[in-house]
Amino acid sequence: MPRVTRYLRRHVIWLGFLAALIPLVVLLGLQYGWLISLEKTSVLAHQATLNNYLEAVASEVGYYYQGAAERALNVPSAAFTQGCMDRAAPHFETKGVQGAKYLFLLSLYGEDKGKLLFFDPALSSMVIPTDAAAMRAIYVASAPWVVMSKKEESLAHVAVTTDERDPDNRVILNPITDEQSRLVGIAGMVVDPKYFCEAVLPKAIKKSLSAFFSEGDSKNLAVSVRDAKDDVKFETGDCRAGHEEAKKAFTFIFTDWHLALRTHHVNPQEWAQANFALNMGLSLILGVVLLGGMALALRAASREMRLSQMKGDFVSNVSHELRTPLASIRVFGEFLRLGRAATPEKVREYGEYIETESRRLTRLINNILDFSKIESGRKTYQFQAADVNDVVEEILKTFEVRLRDSGFVITLERGPGRLPPAMIDADAIGQALSNLLDNAVKYSSRPGEIRIGLDRQDGWIVISVKDSGIGITKEEQTKIFERFHRVSTGLVHDVKGSGLGLSIVSHIVEAHRGTVTVESEPGRGSVFSIRLPIVDGGTGATETVERPSGEARAPFSAEDSHA
Ligand code: ADP
Repeated sequence: MPRVTRYLRRHVIWLGFLAALIPLVVLLGLQYGWLISLEKTSVLAHQATLNNYLEAVASEVGYYYQGAAERALNVPSAAFTQGCMDRAAPHFETKGVQGAKYLFLLSLYGEDKGKLLFFDPALSSMVIPTDAAAMRAIYVASAPWVVMSKKEESLAHVAVTTDERDPDNRVILNPITDEQSRLVGIAGMVVDPKYFCEAVLPKAIKKSLSAFFSEGDSKNLAVSVRDAKDDVKFETGDCRAGHEEAKKAFTFIFTDWHLALRTHHVNPQEWAQANFALNMGLSLILGVVLLGGMALALRAASREMRLSQMKGDFVSNVSHELRTPLASIRVFGEFLRLGRAATPEKVREYGEYIETESRRLTRLINNILDFSKIESGRKTYQFQAADVNDVVEEILKTFEVRLRDSGFVITLERGPGRLPPAMIDADAIGQALSNLLDNAVKYSSRPGEIRIGLDRQDGWIVISVKDSGIGITKEEQTKIFERFHRVSTGLVHDVKGSGLGLSIVSHIVEAHRGTVTVESEPGRGSVFSIRLPIVDGGTGATETVERPSGEARAPFSAEDSHA
């Protein structure tokens, strides 16, 4: 169980990442499926709308002629049974139909049987027809009814019928029955195709358009009506452009003609595909952004975890670092108190040990305090023109005492000529150098030579600390300046430290507009170099500083604060 808990704790970030990733992938998958079905549905829905529209236009045309026929052709049976077909004229006149080429009566009763009269609106009376083609069409259309009337059967139910065998003379017939349901005659109309094209169609097309489409969409539609030979009889808009998307034949009259609908913009498939691509693209972008956000959050979390781990190590390391010099101070103090120092030299020696160890303690505490100031942004520097030589010598003196019997040899190599003064915070630079020297001693597996270099290069004063210690791998060289970072392999395991020294060095040097670099090879030692820009502090005049990047900088003020 503890193994499982440890495993979970170690991999909590990746588990968290997976916990967020899996639902995201599932969501994207569902979205994909949903968009695919939406694409299909929207194509079908679009197609259905177009079909329904044409259906509505065809029905509208049907209603018009059916309604007109039922109204105008409902002639009283008395006109046939009482031999007064002329008396139908006022009926036709009042109920007359627009769109009828002829209104007519054909008697199937008594003496008038077979008599065909047309209504003449100009004379307001029934007249003998002269249009042979129309008459032929009427006789052909009426033939079945004539046969039926000869059988003298009673008809329970009669309805309006059409006959379109002559496309120029389409006939609508209304069989008229008497009280005994006997077929006594036919009232009918020959349809006017011109009126159909010029009045009935435009009205029907326009009426349904607004019911099915928005104003914008209807602008992209073109409706055409074609006859049996596919000749265009009527059209709205350009009926050659775009794609033909729906077709529908008329149902009541003009049944050999059909309506066709074209759209000028993209067709429904293209539209649905474009929609699909857009939605999928947006979903993917969203997914990527989400993953990016998650990756960033996880990186921050893993950093925090690493930092908290480092902080834990820091506390245990620092306690050790504090305890060691304190123990030495106590032991040498006791020696002095108990009078174990027999000679004045011994007294001085123990005193020096106590002093050195307390300086070491001070350095550590200073490091911790400085770190806390840097972290909270309260660290300030007092820049003054100073001789870097003096600062280096001062620090070396304290180290010489500390390392007297350790076998370490510290040598100082100065470049030719006197170094110009530099605008520095002498205490801070001393602290940086101390940290580097401390490390040079700490990370040497056996005592050796530590060489301090002090020289001028172009516009820089260069302080270098070279040791022949354990060295640092290339990979670690980029990380050792991070706070709390400690190399966790080899000898370093046994050497206690806070992981703060180099991060403080780096902060101090950056505050001086300088740089700190490391060159090292594992097993062959390391060289840490601090470069500080040269400034003429006496006059305030500046010497242009050549930075490694080639950038020239103005000098900084004496009270520069790098919060
Ligand atoms: P500390 O020494 O307290 O651990 P530092 O910030 O001074 O912290 O150093 C960070 C790490 O860099 C050290 O833990 C060590 O691994 C490595 N390091 C620093 N100086 C040297 C050196 N001169 N030789 C080898 N390794 C070094």
